[in-house]
Amino acid sequence: MKLVKLIANLGYGSRKQVQWLFREGRVTDADGEVLYADDQVAHEAIRVDGEPLDPPVGLTIALSKPRGVTCSTKDKGRLVYDLLPPRFRDRDPVLSTVGRLDRDTSGLLLLTDDGLLLHRIISPKARLPKVYEVELAEDLRGDEVALFSSGTLMLESEKTPLLPAELEVLGPRNARLVLHEGRYHQVRRMFAAAGNHVQALHRSRVGGLGLEGLEEGQWRQLGAADLETLF
Ligand code: URA
Repeated sequence: MKLVKLIANLGYGSRKQVQWLFREGRVTDADGEVLYADDQVAHEAIRVDGEPLDPPVGLTIALSKPRGVTCSTKDKGRLVYDLLPPRFRDRDPVLSTVGRLDRDTSGLLLLTDDGLLLHRIISPKARLPKVYEVELAEDLRGDEVALFSSGTLMLESEKTPLLPAELEVLGPRNARLVLHEGRYHQVRRMFAAAGNHVQALHRSRVGGLGLEGLEEGQWRQLGAADLETLF
């Protein structure tokens, strides 16, 4: 593939804009030698403004999502994509969120352009544990641990009961909940079914992956070792 097309597909700009990157000498090899649009160079050796090129496919990132931003490509208000380099939204294939977190939920959000990986993570068969820290409006009643772990809890407009989930009580209005599936507004609806209201919700882990080293609003690219911790 021509270098211009390759770089444009990664969202660095339209082909015309990428031509300009070449003309301005901003595309180099690892030693800082300026590259030209017709050069044949391995992907790993290419630098734009001195930074290695994003991977062609298989870009997966972890974002520490703040409250108040939406998991959507186009919506009113702040989007998770506003926290990332603009080229991530313009990549082909596109970088999509792996499932969603509500606008008011904070915490670990994965994004990937790898369709197979996305499917593996969100597939109900994966039963990947997701850990949520929950702050409630009312004191816990005491029957929630049994209710959530029963495997019989039915949420309104659902056809099948929820899989057993583990609830750890941390305080009268604080708990940690581990889910093995991801239904729409699941945590909020589970506590509503238990007569309570979720006031704050934060996802701290997905599989073996946490938010270590990421401040709110920060992201990092995941490597093979990170991805292994997911399964
Ligand atoms: N469950 C919810 O209710 N909201 C989220 O954002 C994630 C899980």
